[in-house]
Amino acid sequence: MNFNEFNFDERLLDGLYSMGYDKPTPIQEHAIPLILANKDLIACAQTGTGKTAAYLLPILNKIVKNQSNNLNTLIIAPTRELAQQIDQQVEGFAYFLGISSISVYGGGDGAAFEQQKKAMREGADIIIATPGRLIAMLTSAGSVDMSSLQHLVLDEADRMLDMGFYDDIMRIINYLPKHRQTVLFSATMPPKIRNMASRILTNPEQVNIAISKPAEGILQQAYMAFDTQKVALVKHILNEKEHNSVIVFASTKEKVKELNKELQRSGLSIKAFHSDLEQAEREQIMLAFKNKEVQILIGTDILSRGIDVDGISLVVNFDVPPDPEDYIHRIGRTARAETTGTAITFINPKDQRRFFSIENLIGTEIPKLPLPEFLGEAPLYEPEKKMDKPAGGFKKKTGFKKKFKSNNKPKTQ
Ligand code: AMP
Repeated sequence: MNFNEFNFDERLLDGLYSMGYDKPTPIQEHAIPLILANKDLIACAQTGTGKTAAYLLPILNKIVKNQSNNLNTLIIAPTRELAQQIDQQVEGFAYFLGISSISVYGGGDGAAFEQQKKAMREGADIIIATPGRLIAMLTSAGSVDMSSLQHLVLDEADRMLDMGFYDDIMRIINYLPKHRQTVLFSATMPPKIRNMASRILTNPEQVNIAISKPAEGILQQAYMAFDTQKVALVKHILNEKEHNSVIVFASTKEKVKELNKELQRSGLSIKAFHSDLEQAEREQIMLAFKNKEVQILIGTDILSRGIDVDGISLVVNFDVPPDPEDYIHRIGRTARAETTGTAITFINPKDQRRFFSIENLIGTEIPKLPLPEFLGEAPLYEPEKKMDKPAGGFKKKTGFKKKFKSNNKPKTQ
């Protein structure tokens, strides 16, 4: 399929071709016609599938046709980083269209709040906002007129609910016209998402793209390692060969800071990214990483959703992520839009069951590589043995092995 088949405005096509988009991805192929046909939509798609363009392109096309100067679209996203990225994509696509957008998110100082509020009152076609800041805007004096709104997009809805934004979202909905098109994107579809969808969408169509499966093109590998071996192992991997851009995930910001010091000492070009940093610092680091001035970024799961940096060739999970879905989001930072990348996870004996449930979720056994010899003996991977005596809260899944695809061998890149 080709983008020409959607009957997009020529200027929109110019914008997307100039951004290097050639063919629609599967989520775009399915979601774009439904959004163009004014349907409410629940779309299950993870980052890396092209989900942002799947809703932006049809909405931009509708705004061009509409030719009104009022606020048309509200996009709500969980984090400021994602809001900024969506805004950048709007700018790219709308380059030849004269469509305006503003992003509204927390952090920054009082002046930033006033500036965003002023921009909102002056008006834009599209507002991209995080829920908390938007509520603050809507409830503060001289609030924004939402009466002309035609489209509401909830991006990464599952993440927003995980972050406790349910009440904020429901409050925001009260400020919006009832007659509107609502589109909800979520990487997962737990009951709480369906419940929210049933309250704010009308007769929605549904599109599901590869739920809980990592993008094709990611070479997934793991090492069994004791905690005492992990720092030397990550240094070995980072020094072993040249990597374009690397993200290292650790479970807590304390660990991030510690590991950052350790790796800086060995002369690597690395920056830590965590919630203790000021917004301005976070932006600066992200920019330096995007511009390839910083080669390695180390962070918590704050980095795992929606960060859209091209050319990340390696993701290292210094710890097994607590939630299998987080694993998919973390490794989705690499191999974006059909490129290739490697994701390596370190598993200590305590984390084996967690890792096993990740393998269970994605239905793939991830190869465990032997540790480099100088690191000594590695622990064995024996999740099933451990599971004969299950600890509280962990359910053994039976019949699991049969679900594995037979791709135990590492893929070559
Ligand atoms: P997303 O899932 O929206 O985070 O998009 C992942 C990445 O794929 C972003 O860098 C997009 O710019 C890129 N992308 C999305 N759709 C396409 C497409 N049809 N062709 C090429 N790249 C795309």
